[in-house]
Amino acid sequence: MSEIKVRPAPARGMFDGPLWEAVDKGEFRLQRCSECGFVRYPPAGVCPRCLSENCKWDLMSGRGRVMSWCVFYRQYFPEIPPPNLVVLAELEEGPIIVADIPGGDASQLKLDLPVRLVFEPVKWNDGTEGKIFHWSLAK
Ligand SMILES: [Zn+2]
Repeated sequence: MSEIKVRPAPARGMFDGPLWEAVDKGEFRLQRCSECGFVRYPPAGVCPRCLSENCKWDLMSGRGRVMSWCVFYRQYFPEIPPPNLVVLAELEEGPIIVADIPGGDASQLKLDLPVRLVFEPVKWNDGTEGKIFHWSLAK
């Protein structure tokens, strides 16, 4: 069994609570507007399309397609050694999600490549524990 990694605790916005509670359960949930159906990310107090405050936290498919990527060779956090492959992918439901592929190889990526969100237990650097999400090459 691999050792649980320490990661920098995410900076949480005032509307992010339900997102991280879902991630801790191994689910990816985002706000879907109850009026127009728009799925928004990052979490917000109102729908950016129709300004409704009504929404529900819907379970997302976790399936996406690669739109772009970059490799960080500079180390920004002591817990994340370079190189770090970071992928920007569009979820089937519409929102664009940025997440890394730990140990990923950028030469395997291409536009529209299917990817899926996966979850990993972590220790946050504030001493708490939870899960983090990454992109993974879809099989
Ligand atoms: Zn709306």
